[in-house]
Amino acid sequence: MAGQSETPMFMSFLFTIIFGLCILNASADLQRFAHPSKHDGSLSFLVLGDWGRRGAYNQSEVAFQMGKVGEKLDIDFVVSTGDNFYDDGMTSEHDKAFEESFTQIYTKKSLQKKWYSVLGNHDYRGDAEAQLSPFLRQIDSRWICLRSFIVESELVEIFFVDTTPFVEEYFTDPGEHKYDWRGISPQKSYITNLLKDLELAMRESTATWKIVVGHHAIRSVGHHGDTRELITQLLPILQANNIDFYMNGHDHCLEHISDTNSPIQFLTSGAGSKAWRGDIDQMNQRGLNFFYDGQGFMSVKLTETDATIHFYDVSGQVLHRLSSSKQLHSPM
Ligand SMILES: [Zn+2]
Repeated sequence: MAGQSETPMFMSFLFTIIFGLCILNASADLQRFAHPSKHDGSLSFLVLGDWGRRGAYNQSEVAFQMGKVGEKLDIDFVVSTGDNFYDDGMTSEHDKAFEESFTQIYTKKSLQKKWYSVLGNHDYRGDAEAQLSPFLRQIDSRWICLRSFIVESELVEIFFVDTTPFVEEYFTDPGEHKYDWRGISPQKSYITNLLKDLELAMRESTATWKIVVGHHAIRSVGHHGDTRELITQLLPILQANNIDFYMNGHDHCLEHISDTNSPIQFLTSGAGSKAWRGDIDQMNQRGLNFFYDGQGFMSVKLTETDATIHFYDVSGQVLHRLSSSKQLHSPM
């Protein structure tokens, strides 16, 4: 008798679990961080990539100039395009590299703002989860690093994308490197879900400016060149959703390339420390506006109508500037 009454209860329990999982899955969207604009409606930030080398290879000099430009622009935050700690990410959340390559290097007052960071391929060669750990915020409250997430203000939505799991070579031909794929496998469904979440968030965005940040370049004439997987899988979503800028690191250079099929501008800022690799792809220079194979960083200033972007070298000289304008919609 008892068995008869338990069966419907078990079925309803099962239904609740399955229904709950469906809801969880449907709402498994990207974590959002609200970042208010300034009182005048503008927003400024610096973009830096490929940096953590305990101050070596001009990392400290770049940091010094970032401090000066950060002060001048009164920046609201810093964006890191990944490869945050060399050579192999962090060993654990207690790794001293965090303080030696981050806290003790970016010391200027203007840089004491939130640092929104993604992971690069080198970060995946260590304990990738260490960099994502909220414990690091107890050491340095500036640090916000997630795999994929969104920073939103009234003016802009910035979509941070975890690009390392897209690159097939790291799975099929890792060489002597060992990647920390915890939380990634199975790779295919990880990427499918990520692209689905991104597409939905981009489609629903009403921000004036839409920016995507990833570690790997979509287009680059530098050492690594274009990332084939991002051209085929990520770029179509960006083109379909009116993205203004794609910002990345990975190639240790500064560059600006215009998409030939859409208004998207590809901006590489991967020059936070070691640079001067000396190779440029002579074959695929479609849309190339600017390439600099040395250390430096980038600044971005956004208003309701204008985006102004500067590239700086290690001595703070402006090497390249681009601007983009939008028409204000006049009220009917
Ligand atoms: Zn890289």
